[in-house]
Amino acid sequence: METRHETKLPVAVIGAGPVGLAAAAHLLAQGQAPVVLEAGTAIGASVREWGHVRLFSPWRYNVDAASVALLEGQGWQAPDPDAFPTGRGLVERYLEPLAATPQLAPRIRLDRRVVAVTRQGFDKMKSAGREDAPFLLHLRSSDGRAEGLLARAVIDASGTWRSPNPLGASGLAAPGEAELADRIFFGIPDALGVHRERYAGRRVLVVGSGHSAFNAILDLTTLAGEEPGTTIAWAVRRRTFGQIFGGGENDLLEARGELGQRIRDLVARGALAVTLGFRTAALTVTEEGIVAAGEEGEILPPVDEIVATTGFRPDLAMLRELRLGLDPAVEAPTALAPLIDPNVHSCGTVRPHGAEELAHPERDFYLAGMKSYGRAPTFLLLTGYEQVRSVAAAIAGDWESARDVRLELPETGVCSSGLVASSCCAATPAEELAAVGAPAATGGLGAVSPEPVLVTLGAPRKAAGGACCG
Ligand SMILES: Cc1cc2nc3c(=O)[nH]c(=O)nc-3n(C[C@H](O)[C@H](O)[C@H](O)COP(=O)(O)OP(=O)(O)OC[C@H]3O[C@@H](n4cnc5c(N)ncnc54)[C@H](O)[C@@H]3O)c2cc1C
Repeated sequence: METRHETKLPVAVIGAGPVGLAAAAHLLAQGQAPVVLEAGTAIGASVREWGHVRLFSPWRYNVDAASVALLEGQGWQAPDPDAFPTGRGLVERYLEPLAATPQLAPRIRLDRRVVAVTRQGFDKMKSAGREDAPFLLHLRSSDGRAEGLLARAVIDASGTWRSPNPLGASGLAAPGEAELADRIFFGIPDALGVHRERYAGRRVLVVGSGHSAFNAILDLTTLAGEEPGTTIAWAVRRRTFGQIFGGGENDLLEARGELGQRIRDLVARGALAVTLGFRTAALTVTEEGIVAAGEEGEILPPVDEIVATTGFRPDLAMLRELRLGLDPAVEAPTALAPLIDPNVHSCGTVRPHGAEELAHPERDFYLAGMKSYGRAPTFLLLTGYEQVRSVAAAIAGDWESARDVRLELPETGVCSSGLVASSCCAATPAEELAAVGAPAATGGLGAVSPEPVLVTLGAPRKAAGGACCG
């Protein structure tokens, strides 16, 4: 039975990124009235910040069906489905035209940061009548203006881009990290574009081992070839390369597979000094530069700049008054988390899932898109588009369609369960270099070298049950 507020109020969508806009398109297709609240002064504000990065998935995987239907109504010319856009291309060729469609344009409110979500008249503790109360969202604009908005349901598609993990290996900012805010870049700097001056001729330490690290390293090594004095060091928490470089030719997303292989080649050629097994404990500024210390007392050579690509976490503070059902480790919805937990999965695939798996104890509230994955790193746009199709159907009451979820994701080619590699705890630097096809190391930690340079720190450890040292 519908409650009074359900018939009149809009569905609030938090974030005008690719998934938030797709959610609005699906809600419209279901006869719902979405209102999209975007913190930035333009749609796709987070994607714009990595606009220089090329996506590893081609256009065919980057667009949403309901959104394309709106666009085609406006005579939109679809890009080549096999071409790979940059983040900027995604915004300019797809998100901007989508947001400008007459159906969506009047429903998007820019410069409205959602700072809190609750149920009107109900704090988290209060139960009786809770599900009949509308959601109340507190919004803040950049000039400090505050507003409230009532909604019958909420889809939070605000991503995780603005809450990167700190450098500190224990999940907290390392001592010295906050003070060095102007020398640490969280994300992927545009080292060949707007950030060129910042990195040209500098000693740069990249921390992290995901696709963001790969993209940062590739641009920085190109810069090093053009600007003498630019050196790159790479610090990785894992003690072995293991599956770091991904599935290569086995990756069903060719460009994703190639990314890892290009880094592997750079390591083999000695284009960067790699330190495995480094867990950042503290950062200090010395006369020679910034010095990073590891948890076991190791010290890396001084650098001028640090690029932190240590992953992301969801901002849950604004959802404090809602009754969320989140996995305690992954911070993703409880039913979804086991499907994407990087401790046990590496395939990049996830079982089809929708409104049912994304539901929380708080009825009619959903996390979608990148944020739905919590701290897990393997999110793909395709997943988000199917999530919001299902969620929009559920909000409209069409549970048959909501449950009919279909999703087939391209595997990474490094599928394993338990992530236990037989030799992972035993490898020495020489063995690791041999594994990437390089000749034996001759040097210690240092600047760019014609020889491969690799150091594994700390004594090899074996986890309980003989699992990998991580
Ligand atoms: C460098 C990079 C490359 C990637 N490449 C690929 C790829 O090749 N293929 C692929 O499938 N996926 C890729 N991804 C993963 C993922 O698809 C993208 O991160 C995608 O942008 C996620 O979309 P989203 O809509 O969930 O979140 P976002 O794009 O992060 O959008 C969230 C929006 O919410 C807004 N927002 C944030 N907080 C608030 C708030 N409190 N109130 C209101 N608005 C708010 C933000 O400003 C932003 O506009 C990549 C990610 C990164 C970082």
